[in-house]
Amino acid sequence: MTQVVVIGGGVVGISCALSLQADGQEVTVVEPGPVGEGASWASCGCIAVGEIVPLSQPGMLMKVPGWLLHPKAPLSLRPTSLPGLLPWFARFTANARPSKMRAIAADLARLTFAATGDFKAQLVDIGAPELLVERPVLKLFDDERDRATMGAAFDLARDLGCTIDEITGQEAHEIAPAIAPDFKYAAILRDWSFVTDPKRLVEALHQTFTKRGGTVVQAAATGFDRETRRVRAVRLSDGRSLPADEVILAAGTHSRALAKALDVPIQLEGVAGYSTALSDPGVDLTHTVFYPKGGFGMTPYEDSLAVAGTIEFAGLNAPPNWNRADILVKKALRVLPNLQTTKRERRMGRRPFTPDTRPIIGRSKHVQNVTFATGHGQLGLTLGATTARLVADDLARRPLHLDVQPFSPDRFSN
Ligand SMILES: Cc1cc2nc3c(=O)[nH]c(=O)nc-3n(C[C@H](O)[C@H](O)[C@H](O)COP(=O)(O)OP(=O)(O)OC[C@H]3O[C@@H](n4cnc5c(N)ncnc54)[C@H](O)[C@@H]3O)c2cc1C
Repeated sequence: MTQVVVIGGGVVGISCALSLQADGQEVTVVEPGPVGEGASWASCGCIAVGEIVPLSQPGMLMKVPGWLLHPKAPLSLRPTSLPGLLPWFARFTANARPSKMRAIAADLARLTFAATGDFKAQLVDIGAPELLVERPVLKLFDDERDRATMGAAFDLARDLGCTIDEITGQEAHEIAPAIAPDFKYAAILRDWSFVTDPKRLVEALHQTFTKRGGTVVQAAATGFDRETRRVRAVRLSDGRSLPADEVILAAGTHSRALAKALDVPIQLEGVAGYSTALSDPGVDLTHTVFYPKGGFGMTPYEDSLAVAGTIEFAGLNAPPNWNRADILVKKALRVLPNLQTTKRERRMGRRPFTPDTRPIIGRSKHVQNVTFATGHGQLGLTLGATTARLVADDLARRPLHLDVQPFSPDRFSN
C-alpha cells in the first residue's frame, strides 16, 4: 500500500485525501489549524462554473495608483506589501493581454465545467447531498455604465460555453424579492450553484476521511527529508518525520514556502478577502447575489447570510483589516434594504492566487513523488473535488480527463 502524506486539510487537501483513500492508499493529512477554518471558511460558497476570466485584465498597471490611494475600494493594495509583491505583480500584469486572457479562460473553463459533476459525486459519497443548492446566481447593476464593466467578461465566458442571461433589475427582484427593486439591469449565471455551509462541508469531508480509517495529524509541515529527486519523509512542527511514498502539497497560500524547500519556485500570493456571517439577517434571500460595483456577493447559508468579497493585495502574512468587512456589510444594504446587520461574525481568508489565475495541479520535474494541488485563487471550493479526481487518477496511473500541462508547477521558472 502506498503511504501518502497530504499537507493541508483545507477543502482541496481533504478532497484529495478522500479520493486517494478511496483508491486504497494509506493517507495521512497534516493540518495545524482548526478544520475548515482556512480560506474555505471565508468563501462566498459558490460552485462558480464559468468564473473563468482571469484576475489580471487589460489596463491593470494604470489602476495601481488608485488601489494604493483608496484603501477602502473593492480592490486595493497595501503599500507595505508592494516590494514583496513585485515579482508576482510583474507576471500578473504580463498576463493582462487579451490573447493570454482567452487562453487562461479556456483552461479554467475545462476545469470548472467538470466541477458540478465532481462535487455532486463527492457530496453523495460523504452522505451530504443537501449541502449543494442548484440555483443560479444573480449579478446586479445600477445602470448601463455599471453593466458595461462586465460586458467583455460575459462575452468571453459565453464564447467558451457559459450560459448567462441578461434581464432587468425588476425581473431579478421578482426572482428574489429580498433584492431592492431599483437595479436597472441584472444577469443570471445559470451554470453556478452554491454550498449552504462551506465550513460544514470541510468538516464533513474530514469526518468521512477519519471514519474510513484516515489519520489527521495536528501539526504543520516544516520541511522534507530528501534523497536526490525524491521526498522520503515530511518533517513536522512537533519534531516528528512522517515517512512518505507520495506527498500532496495542498497548504493553500503556505504552499509557496514548502515548494521553495523542494526547489520548486512557484509564484503564489495570498489575496485577502473578507466575509461576515449575519446570523439574524431578517430577510429571506433565496439566491446568491453579486453586486460587482460593490465588490461583494451574498449567499444564504444554513444558519446565516454571508456577505463576502473584496480583493486586497496585502502580502502573505498581513493582519486583517476588519474595516473592509464592515464596509461590505454597509454596502449590502444597497442590495437588501431590509437586511439586519447587528449579529455578525467576521472572517478573513487568503485566496491562494497565482499570477495567471490558473491553479497549480500536477508534478514538478524537480521532485518525483510530490503532487501539487494548490493556487486555486477564487475557485478552491469549486475545484476541490475536480482537483482531487485529477490527483487520484494521476497517482493510480489512470488516464486524466483533461490535460494538466497548463497547471504545471514548473511554469513559473520559464
Ligand atoms: C472572501 C472570499 C470568497 C470566496 N468565495 C469563493 C467562492 O464563492 N467559490 C470558490 O470556489 N472559492 C471561493 N473562495 C476561494 C476559496 O475559499 C479558496 O480557493 C479555497 O478555500 C482554497 O482552499 P485550499 O484548501 O487550497 O486552502 P485553505 O482552505 O486555505 O487550506 C489550506 C490549509 O493548509 C493548512 N496549512 C498551512 N500551512 C501548513 C503547513 N505548513 N503544514 C500543513 N498544513 C498547512 C492551513 O491551516 C489550511 O487549513 C473565496 C475566498 C475568499 C477569501
